[in-house]
Amino acid sequence: MTVAHAPRRPERAAALERIRSIVGAKGWIDDARDMERYVTEERAMFRGRAAAVVRPASTEEVAKVVAVCAEHRIPLVPQGGNTGLCGGSVPFESGDEIVLSMGRMNRVRSIDPLNYTIEVEAGCILADIQRAAADADRLFPLSLAAEGTCQIGGNLSTNAGGTGVLRYGNARDLVLGLEVVLPDGRVLDWLSRLRKDNTGYDLRHLFCGAEGTLGIITAAVLKLFPMPRDQRTALIALPNIEACVPLLSKARAATGDAVTAFEYIHRICLDFVFRHTPGTSDPLTERHTHYVLMELTTTAAGDTALGERFEKLMEQAMEDGLVLDAAVAQNEAQSKQLWKLRESIPESQKPEGASIKHDVSVAVSRVPDFVEQATKLMEAAMPGVRVVAFGHVGDGNVHFNLNKPVGMEDEAFVARRHELNAIVHDLVAEMGGSFSAEHGIGRLKRDELVRYKSPVAVDVMRRIKAALDPDNIMNPGKVV
Ligand code: FAD
Ligand code: ZN
Repeated sequence: MTVAHAPRRPERAAALERIRSIVGAKGWIDDARDMERYVTEERAMFRGRAAAVVRPASTEEVAKVVAVCAEHRIPLVPQGGNTGLCGGSVPFESGDEIVLSMGRMNRVRSIDPLNYTIEVEAGCILADIQRAAADADRLFPLSLAAEGTCQIGGNLSTNAGGTGVLRYGNARDLVLGLEVVLPDGRVLDWLSRLRKDNTGYDLRHLFCGAEGTLGIITAAVLKLFPMPRDQRTALIALPNIEACVPLLSKARAATGDAVTAFEYIHRICLDFVFRHTPGTSDPLTERHTHYVLMELTTTAAGDTALGERFEKLMEQAMEDGLVLDAAVAQNEAQSKQLWKLRESIPESQKPEGASIKHDVSVAVSRVPDFVEQATKLMEAAMPGVRVVAFGHVGDGNVHFNLNKPVGMEDEAFVARRHELNAIVHDLVAEMGGSFSAEHGIGRLKRDELVRYKSPVAVDVMRRIKAALDPDNIMNPGKVV
């Protein structure tokens, strides 16, 4: 990575000193060992170096730091919880960049239960926002396995998905207003609490999913929802993968659109979970190949209709041959136990050796077709490969992962990553899908962006980047 007109050494040292004085000792880390966790990504796929880690405590401090960076063309990498899966939050190896870590900006600024909104600083941990909303008897529906560590600024910057998308949308759908420090150090105050505002370009969405390349999100106004009062969670065995699409469609219609999650799970995922996750076991007596984890919720207290509708749905679906069997949670503890099966899949893949992952989407109605075709292509390309497919089928988003054939060396398997990626992503493109449904681009998928997006789309993205960040100091080398 190169940055135009990099500052000379003495000038740069003076600029870093100014930044240090802006954030004070509490906001400054330059010891190599202390910086380690900020320059390494979760899975250690990317390890970089940084000139320093800067931890500002307010929007004003962020703005001042960025202004100095702009003046001296010091590149910076915004960082939230550093749980991103595409290497967007870690610096490159040059050591020229500073990491701007948002963890100290973790205040809930205000909550307005009647407007169903909450205003938070970008460094708030997602789980803390969920709790703050719950304390006000409201739901903040964004939910993912990293929620105890990831921050809302990171969630918005990656337009995170998770398990609630089917009902509530992606992170970008949950935001009404943003406060952003632009690459020149100015603050864009767009902290709107309005649900209707048709006054020109909607700049919010520029920064959602931009992965820190257009500015630093410092605060956000988020949408809240009524708290769910009752739910039905079931692990449902299907006769084949095709059945999941009509089942979802019927479930939505028959329950007053109460389906809040609909997750496909192939049997191999459960085998891995039972083998490697203590405290899990098969809730069904017979072994099946295809499952969905379905959750219905209602916000109406004391509503018995949900349970009745659910039972009728299951009866009808069994009659129609869409469902073979189901384990239905009778209480919250059992529901959590079923969710644990789904949530333990990524972790339980690890002891099975090297994996190659695809986070793709196609139209919901084409998910079974995609999984079947992609599985055949993988088995042909590498006999014995273990296809570990699961995911948010209600959003058309499949985590189409591969584990190495039993007995194969990790290195030999990983060496074929690009070849296998290309086969899967070509198929996805043919089906009009996306090669990155929820984890973004970062550093990992930049080549794919150029390969699979239309040249016009890539050109528009580059022009927006150049317009806002002409000196390319804001997370350079990521996304575009
Ligand atoms: P980081 O990893 O710190 O940063 C991600 C990107 O956003 C980087 O490019 C960074 O520069 C930028 N960024 C961070 N904060 C800011 C800011 N304030 N302003 C501007 N740019 C910023 N993702 C999903 O979508 N769905 C899932 O279900 C899901 N499950 C996961 C499960 C696990 C166990 C793990 C480890 C990850 C999972 N992820 C998932 C990926 C990851 O958690 C999300 O991408 C999350 O939104 C990242 O948030 P973060 O705060 O960790 O951001
Ligand atoms: Zn996911």
